Amino acid sequence: MYEVTVEQPFSAAHYLKDYPGKCANVHGHNYRVQVTVEGEDLDQLGMVVEFEVIKQALKPWMDKFDHGFLNEIPPFDMVNPSAENLAKFFYDEVARAIGESTARVCCVRVFETEKCSAAYRPK
Ligand SMILES: [Zn+2]
Repeated sequence: MYEVTVEQPFSAAHYLKDYPGKCANVHGHNYRVQVTVEGEDLDQLGMVVEFEVIKQALKPWMDKFDHGFLNEIPPFDMVNPSAENLAKFFYDEVARAIGESTARVCCVRVFETEKCSAAYRPK
């Protein structure tokens, strides 16, 4: 099994609705979104998927979220912008961009800090 990983940063503010602690206050993170795509086979170029495909799938969201207030940007005006929910959101977006292919997204990890991250992977 091959894996390729792309990491993209964005900086944004958020707060966690109904959270019983400091995270209920507006604060910011220098987020990093790490997408890993896996595949049993390589294409004619010897790749699982081009890094650029993953970057392009993330780019509109990086542009929209960077220096934004996540709680005001759909779907996070309705969904709590936790690292877990962000990871699932980016998973769905990249999976849609890759579409039918021998490659599949195996994990999306969202770092809120250097040492704290949450990941989503399908079963
Ligand atoms: Zn936070």
